[in-house]
Formats: sequence, structure tokens, C-alpha cells
Amino acid sequence: MTIQDRQAPKDRPAKPAAGIDSPLFDALIGARKMFSRSEKISDDNRETHKVGGRGGDSFYRERWSHDKVVRSTHGVNCTGSCSWKVYVKDGVITWESQETDYPSVGPDKPEYEPRGCPRGASFSWYTYSPTRVRYPYVRSALLQMYREEKAKAPGHDPVEAWKAIVSDPEKARRYKSVRGKGGLVRASWDETVEMISAAYVHTVKEYGPDRATGFSPIPAMSQVSFSSGARFHQLIGGSMLSFYDWYADLPPASPQVFGDQTDVPESGDWWDAAYLIMWGSNVPLTRTPDAHWMVEARYRGQKVISIAPDYAESVKFADEWLAPHPGTDAALAMAMGHTILREFYVDRQTAYFDAYSKQYTDLPFLVQLEQREDGTLVPGKFLVASEAGEQRTAEAATEHADFKPMMFDAATGAPWSPTGPSATASRRTAWAAGTSSWETSTPR
Ligand code: SF4
Repeated sequence: MTIQDRQAPKDRPAKPAAGIDSPLFDALIGARKMFSRSEKISDDNRETHKVGGRGGDSFYRERWSHDKVVRSTHGVNCTGSCSWKVYVKDGVITWESQETDYPSVGPDKPEYEPRGCPRGASFSWYTYSPTRVRYPYVRSALLQMYREEKAKAPGHDPVEAWKAIVSDPEKARRYKSVRGKGGLVRASWDETVEMISAAYVHTVKEYGPDRATGFSPIPAMSQVSFSSGARFHQLIGGSMLSFYDWYADLPPASPQVFGDQTDVPESGDWWDAAYLIMWGSNVPLTRTPDAHWMVEARYRGQKVISIAPDYAESVKFADEWLAPHPGTDAALAMAMGHTILREFYVDRQTAYFDAYSKQYTDLPFLVQLEQREDGTLVPGKFLVASEAGEQRTAEAATEHADFKPMMFDAATGAPWSPTGPSATASRRTAWAAGTSSWETSTPR
């Protein structure tokens, strides 16, 4: 990044006088001097000083005063969604406490409440933190070029200004090469929205609407934000990505093995487990409001295992601690899978494993075998209806046949594409690509 990139654009509007929002806001804050003559107000009107006696104590005594109590939670991509009482004074959050009116789950389980965590308890501090990002920021190099190009563009057209930047390799390089290096400067909402809109219009005009790709926040957090972003991309003909592409915290094994995305038991089910493995989550820290289920279940004989390379909080509660070397956890998981397959599927078949894998996993789906140069066969893609060769069924001619995985129907002896649970499918069957024959394969 060059010095120039760090500098604010020369033609940026003059910096506003000290204040948070506007002259009106400053005037309102300043008016407090008129109504608080006994107090000392700082020159910037942001601090109130009271000195001595009961008057000086009022900050402490009034710390817990409030006008009303409302129910809320913390919308920070925390799926804990704990129920909280939020105390409000003059429209400002003053403090919070955990709500305790969860429905009872019955006499044979611990109750849910109280749910919460230290991060949530201090959430109001974040809400009013001076470091909270509340305004749009744009990379200085880009903002400077945009203003320059817009001033030159016919009719000061924003789309022409954007085109002039992204169509020029040197200009495009200038702002892209400083990504990740800071240099963000505050801009107005109007200007930022204009730039984003210009980028969309230019991209749609130049490359087509399906080149515009985006995502909006997780629907479980904010249905309005999610819906508005999804609808916007639908209306312009763009591509809508999953919010998981942004968070990058999707557990891939979940949809790949079970076919559902994060469709997992909720924390209350931990109580019913006889054997609990904590892995990839430091439960007392990262799932604080629900950690009590794990702790309490130990009193009914549950065995708890913690897999963590460090002496994490979860280890304290474990009967056994497995500490793999950092970076080897994938090998450990594959070794565990290998042992399960070997002992319950290859060397010996068990009814429970068979029934479970047929009903809940993608194990029964046929895969294509690909032949290596040395003659060995390795698993390839799933076999779909349109690729079943001589074994093609009527489904091969149906819509979306390229997306219909096949399995072997033990009742008819023919491949089929299931529309529901795969419980009737046979197992250990694979389609040998290119040989037009059905073969039985055994995972090794
Ligand atoms: S887990 Fe913590 S941050 Fe999340 S909702 Fe509960 S109290 Fe709030």
C-alpha cells in the first residue's frame, strides 16, 4: 500500500465538527447544560461530573434504575437465542438479566433455564461501544478514484464512473491490491449505496444478471434481512449464495452424509445420551447456556469424552481426554470411521448398522467406479439416472435426471431413484462405469 492509499481523498468533504451524528444532535446534547446547572458538563458535552455527598453517589445509585423491562436476545449470529430481560432507561439499555420463564420440560429432566453467557450479559456494552462500526467505510483508493471518475463522467453518471475504474486494469489493480491492508475511510450512506448500485448495474449490463452474486444474513437471525437480500437477487436474476459461504462454518459432513444441512439434535438431547463426545466445540465456552445438560447428565451415568489438543474447559468435565496433535484430527476421524466400517459392515454385518445407514445416510446410493492405470478401481461420482447405461430406468427420461442419484432395489433387483427413505435399498452395490455391469464392492 502506498502512502497515497492511506491518505484521505483530497476532495473529501470537510470533516464535520466533533459530534456523533449531526448539528441537531449536538445541539440537543448541548442543551443539557441549560437543565443541569448544578453539574459540570465537559466542553464537548459528552461528560457529566458530580462532586461530593449524595449527589456524587447518584451515578452508582441510578446505575440500576430503569423505566421499563423488555424481552430480547442477542442477534450476533449466536444461535443460543437465550431469553433476556433488558432494562431500559430513557431509551437506553442500562443492564440485562436472564429471563426465567422457560416452559418446564417435565420431572425427568433438568430445566432449560437459566440460559445465558458472559458475552451476552455484557452485550449492552457492545451496543454502545464507540468502536462499533455504525457507518459505511470504503477503501480510500477506491473512493478517491470513484469521485474523480464521477466528476469526469458524462452527466456525472455513477455507472460510467464505476465502469471507468473496473475496465482499467491499472485502476482495478490499484484498489484490489490493497485489500486486506486497511485504508478504509468513512463515507456517507448515499455515496456508498450509489457505488454499490453502479457496480450492480454495470455488471448486469456488461456480463448479464447471473454474474451478480450475493448472500444475505442467516434467516434464523433476521428474516427481514435475509428475505430482502434474497428477493433482491431473485428480482435482478442474480445468484443467491448460502450465508454459510460467508460464515464458512458449515459442518460439511452433515449435508454430505445425512442429506440435511445442520439438522442435528438440540442441546437438550444431550441429556438422553449414554455416551457423549465433545469434539470441535469447547462446550462450556462456546455453548455456555446449554453446557449444563452435559454436566448434569454425568450424574445419571453418562460417559463424557473430550477431544481437544489443548486443556480446554470441556476437558475438565470429561471422563476421558483424547488430545490429538493439532492438525491430525481429520486422520483421527477417518481412523474411527474405518474401524466402525470394518467391525460393523465389512467383517461382520449388524442389523442396527444396516438399518441406520439405509435410513439416515447416503451409503446405499450407487457410486461409479473409476479404473486407474494400474487396474485398481476407485470410487467416483454418484450414479445418476441419466448415466445408468443399459440399466437406465424410466427415470432417465424424466426432468432433472442428471440430479437423481440411484440405488439398488433389493425387491426388484433393479436400480431406481428413491423419492423417500432409502430403507428398502440394497447395500454394497456399485456401478462399474464403462462396463455396463453391476458389481458388488466392499469398502476398504
Ligand atoms: S449464548 Fe450468550 S450471546 Fe448467545 S444469546 Fe445466549 S446470552 Fe446471548
